[in-house]
Amino acid sequence: MVLNLISNPPPWPGDARCAVAFTFDMDAESLLHLYHREAAPGLIGTSATLRYGPRIAVPRLVEIARHTGIKLTGYVPGWCVETYPDAIAGLVEGGHEIGHHGWLHEKPNTLSREDEERVLLRGIEAIEAATGTRPRGYRAPSYAMSEHTLDLLVEHGFSYDSSLVGDDVPYLVSGARGRLVELPSDYALDDWPQYVHMKEFGCTMPIRSPERALEVFRAEFDAAWTHGGLWVSIFHPFVSGRLARAEALLGLIAYMQEKGGVWFATMAEIAEHIEGLVETGQWHPREERLPFWREPVAPLVTPRES
Ligand SMILES: [Zn+2]
Repeated sequence: MVLNLISNPPPWPGDARCAVAFTFDMDAESLLHLYHREAAPGLIGTSATLRYGPRIAVPRLVEIARHTGIKLTGYVPGWCVETYPDAIAGLVEGGHEIGHHGWLHEKPNTLSREDEERVLLRGIEAIEAATGTRPRGYRAPSYAMSEHTLDLLVEHGFSYDSSLVGDDVPYLVSGARGRLVELPSDYALDDWPQYVHMKEFGCTMPIRSPERALEVFRAEFDAAWTHGGLWVSIFHPFVSGRLARAEALLGLIAYMQEKGGVWFATMAEIAEHIEGLVETGQWHPREERLPFWREPVAPLVTPRES
């Protein structure tokens, strides 16, 4: 008998063993313009690497999703929504979800509350203009949620957040203005540590083969399947949409579909399911209040400089 390692998994639709959401953060060149503002126009090689995302990888991922019958969730900075309308149109036509991911990939915890709200509103405007609907979900660029993010998301009508990695199943995060569903993932399901080798962003690890990367992603899936968890990829089109990796992705989806008992959904669908369970009292998720700490912890002693 298997020892269940998740103490309170939610009931998934259709008695599925786990929920799976393929999510992609389409950052394109936002990172380049944010971190190398003056030099960016001259960094054509880096631009070409990043533009591979909206130009080549997104249409490829849309085709993979159509072929396998799954829906994707893309988190897209507002500037990228406006700069690459064809990629966004392809996602929208395919019935995929577009979530909020800042304006130019700014880290929220480096902004004032006013600036964070300005970024949030401008991103909503861009997504609404391109898709016809307001985004329901948000993922903080670089996992960098601020102490104001949750309150701003509640104030501006979001239904879920996917910036934190604090559990294996959905949970609730509450703040001064209300609460939201949190749909967590983990850095193990991010493709940057596996594949990205770009000195411009301080990532110069050896590149793993798709088979090695898939071992990590598949192990997370098998565990979610066994224990009733949630599997949320944090992939990037310019990374996982490259040819051999896209092939491996097809293999991963086939593996999941053959195993069976998987609920493939968009993040908005998962959030809606969880909200329904909470409202009807069918499931009681864990709830955490943000921010965790209001001020620094006073040290008992002062360590020497080493
Ligand atoms: Zn991003």
